[in-house]
Amino acid sequence: MTAIAIPVFVKSGVDLEDAIASAEEALEGARAIGGGIIELRCDTASSKQMGEAIDAARLPVIVTIRPKWEGGQSEKSDEQRLALWEEAIEAGADYIDVELVAWEKSKKIREGIEEAAEKAGTRVIVSNHSFEGRPKDLEQRIQRLRAVKAAGVLKLAWKAGTILDAVEALRLTREVKREDGRPLVALAMGEEGLISRLLAKKFGAPFTFATVAAGKESAPGQPTAAELLGLYRWGVQKAETPVYGVAGWPVGHSKSPQYHNAGFEKAGFGGVYVPLAIRPEGFEAAVEALRQEVDLRGLSVTIPHKEAAFGYVRARGGEMDAVSRQVGVINTMVWRGGAEGQAEGGAGGSEGGAGGGKGEKVVGMNSDYAGALDALAGAWDGRRESVRGKRVAVLGAGGAARAIVAGLAACGATVVVYNRTRSKADALAAEFGAEGKVVAADWEQLRESCCEAYVNCTPLGMAPQVEGSPIDFDPSWGPETVVFDTVYNPPQTTLLKLAERKGAKTVRGEEMFVRQAAVQLRAFLDGRV
Ligand code: NAP
Repeated sequence: MTAIAIPVFVKSGVDLEDAIASAEEALEGARAIGGGIIELRCDTASSKQMGEAIDAARLPVIVTIRPKWEGGQSEKSDEQRLALWEEAIEAGADYIDVELVAWEKSKKIREGIEEAAEKAGTRVIVSNHSFEGRPKDLEQRIQRLRAVKAAGVLKLAWKAGTILDAVEALRLTREVKREDGRPLVALAMGEEGLISRLLAKKFGAPFTFATVAAGKESAPGQPTAAELLGLYRWGVQKAETPVYGVAGWPVGHSKSPQYHNAGFEKAGFGGVYVPLAIRPEGFEAAVEALRQEVDLRGLSVTIPHKEAAFGYVRARGGEMDAVSRQVGVINTMVWRGGAEGQAEGGAGGSEGGAGGGKGEKVVGMNSDYAGALDALAGAWDGRRESVRGKRVAVLGAGGAARAIVAGLAACGATVVVYNRTRSKADALAAEFGAEGKVVAADWEQLRESCCEAYVNCTPLGMAPQVEGSPIDFDPSWGPETVVFDTVYNPPQTTLLKLAERKGAKTVRGEEMFVRQAAVQLRAFLDGRV
């Protein structure tokens, strides 16, 4: 069972009873699913403050007195810290956290703590932190931690340089427990290390750290307890939990975890969906590592990885539908048929590396085009066939326009591409207009346009420049005209306001987002293991 530990800073000026009560309240939901722990950060606390905090806590406590030389606030000498640890043990602390370096350096600390802790039944966490990045001697540090026989829990934390650090932390969590018998808390700190915290339960960590609220972190990258328990489905996480995620850079703003975890919940599916902060050049290596170690079963792919995702699937002979192939970028990947690839003990689903485990195949698709077509069709009778024969103006010739033009052409619409840079509109028309159904036009020609639908695929009108609009004249639109703005922030753009004033039917960008996400969710659930 993996507990959630919330740090509370014990220091002057903090209402300790209140702080501990808030932390315990945030851990209410963890009671039946691994439990909760309060980490009392006594870096600058007096003996009295520490004693009061231990008394005030109803949940198990860890007492930590982190010195400045290990990234904390404490300027106390080792002798002073030893005296406090001994008091903490005496006062009934469940765990005390002692830095590996202090343990190795001081015979007094070793002997003092060993004796007191053994007598009182307090467990010793021996820990090591590296805020500058992955230590070069990581393996040796693990061996040094393991050499501390008096420790009941080992802890190793370092600042993630890439998501590969988080994968390594998870792998170590599983391996050390298997080899040593004692549990390891391995944490990759920072946004790129986030999954080392979110998936700690799947990998059998004794606990992981979360905050009571955003802004109260004791180390970079901690989620809130509410996020772990609610959004990231702590309750369903177990060794064999399949993992899904959104790969992007940046990715923190993505609403996909909310959407897909809620969808999994509704479908009664035990998967967990997490954000995956993958650097622009790191897509392939990250996906390989996640497949090998983390049981990754499906991915949403966002900027800047959509082309790399296409290349990944193509290079492995994976399946893609015809339109996705034509578009040349994909935003969805799912691995199918790999139940037999599951390693014993749950995690680490793939064996064959590249394409996946035994018998698995990777399937790629572009749900942007599908979501856009479904959103647009909603303005008619909801079926994609309703697009056939319609005259549709596409404004813009970038990535979104490319997917939408490909989809419209495949469904038999007649498309006029208006773009500021005419040559790009020409290139799109040449690529997708085999039967003369896609033509290019100058941006200025929009004024004379008389299409049945207008699809804005430029960022004009997007926050923060919300007053922008691709239509800065009085168009001849009426009730039969459909105006679809792919911009979804704000939901009601200047373009859509104009369309409403003209009595036209409007389609919001968020409909495209939700529908493309729905296509992805179906793909994830169809491929469930
Ligand atoms: P992109 O590849 O950068 O393409 C941008 C397009 O907009 C280009 O054709 C560009 O013309 C044109 N453009 C940019 N600024 C302009 C201006 N001031 N005046 C006229 N044209 C201008 O971007 P993208 O990936 O296609 O994304 C475009 C928009 O689609 C995004 O802003 C986003 O809001 C929306 N989108 C929505 C969803 C959804 O789910 N709702 C999904 C994806 C995208 P040039 O060729 O002349 O540079």
